[in-house]
Amino acid sequence: MAKPLIICRNLDITYNKGKSNEFKALANASTDIYEGEYIILFGASGSGKSTLMYAIQGSLPPGGGTMLIGGEDIYSIPVDERIYFQRYVMGIIFQSFNLIGSLSVLDNVALPMIFCNADKPTRERRAQSLLERFGVGHVSHKIPSMLSGGQQQRVSVARSMVNDPKILLADEPTGNLDSISTQQVMDKIDEINTFDKRTIIMVSHNAAHLRYAHRVYYLKDGYIVREVVNPQRKQIKPVKEGETIVTELEQLARLFPYDSIESLRVKSLVNFVTQEYTFSQLERLEKAMEYFISGKIDAQAAIKTIVLPYERGGVGISEKEARRMVHVAGTMLNQADDIRRFRRQYDQAHTFFGQDKLSERLRDHLLTVHKMKLTKKQDENLVEVIADRVVGVSGEDEFNERISKSVSGGGMGLSPDEADDITRYFEKIIAQGVDVSYKS
Ligand code: ADP
Ligand code: MG
Repeated sequence: MAKPLIICRNLDITYNKGKSNEFKALANASTDIYEGEYIILFGASGSGKSTLMYAIQGSLPPGGGTMLIGGEDIYSIPVDERIYFQRYVMGIIFQSFNLIGSLSVLDNVALPMIFCNADKPTRERRAQSLLERFGVGHVSHKIPSMLSGGQQQRVSVARSMVNDPKILLADEPTGNLDSISTQQVMDKIDEINTFDKRTIIMVSHNAAHLRYAHRVYYLKDGYIVREVVNPQRKQIKPVKEGETIVTELEQLARLFPYDSIESLRVKSLVNFVTQEYTFSQLERLEKAMEYFISGKIDAQAAIKTIVLPYERGGVGISEKEARRMVHVAGTMLNQADDIRRFRRQYDQAHTFFGQDKLSERLRDHLLTVHKMKLTKKQDENLVEVIADRVVGVSGEDEFNERISKSVSGGGMGLSPDEADDITRYFEKIIAQGVDVSYKS
């Protein structure tokens, strides 16, 4: 059986050891990484991801434990040989590109080859062909600052590959990029893994990236707290029989990447006792709703998708239930559209124009949905409470408090349950109708 290419055993890394600001950034970390694997080190900021990556790269000697690459303990070999490792066995990409500003793009990419025996024309030919492969061949004569962030990162991908390394390390390579450039860079890194068969170790805190990896190591406070196999990719690391079965916990771990195993177990159980749908169904239902909310599909198409059997790509929910769901979502969205239009106008003109009308319409909607009849005073109070909530004068808690207040005290005199019910429903509408930038 193949041996792992990279073996970390019980790595401990402490910054500023012995000083007052001593900080243990990595504790007892062990990983086995096989040739050809795509591994993501995942976790919140400060969890120790970069520390682990630079330890693997050979530039952070551990306080304890061992780090073997291809069977060699890289921290016990002489420094000049270790540099050889870093130059020819590993390529690296940084979040901030780290290109040399005074050199042309071509020279930036050719630079790491300067220590190998190839002559200048050969080096430049190789650099140019890599730049072309990554879609930036046409800007090779420019200096980095003339390129967009996405282009600069593709230049550094080319640079990282110039000495044909076995392992590519990337520290949040898309952290500074817009979504289109992110996609391009992620596609190129994926290609280096699937087409060139290089081992990838990527640091990320973007859950959307997890699907690229064979396996993900989750880090928290300097510990590797979980290792999750991606069931969508054929595994390279030998797996024991039964290990690749996608458990619901693994599915949940992808949906809630920052949760501990304990809280995932709780979620699983609570889902079981409160919901008749599985997480896979809910995931598909979310997709259908996302398309419906964004207007990509209409109500009929949404219902069709929801009704379609699960095996055929649908959610597999009965037609009656699907119609009810889309109807509720649709009426909420109509109200939300009103709020959105109003908020836009409010934000631009700073007028209260149309506020009463909007509040009255929302009141009518609430009364219909909750089948309520109000006295004149209750009605007036409700319109006022709604108006304050819509313009953001009051928050969710205050809305709830005010509708439970007595009628003479400016409220509606609702029971706590009734108030909670209406607040919850109204907040759903607010959430759809108010842009995130409005949330304080
Ligand atoms: P991540 O990449 O997950 O955001 P890092 O591995 O960079 O986290 O850092 C882990 C912890 O170690 C952080 O709390 C960070 O502040 C600390 N740290 C990182 N580098 C140093 C350093 N050179 N000196 C002192 N503390 C550091
Ligand atoms: Mg980091």
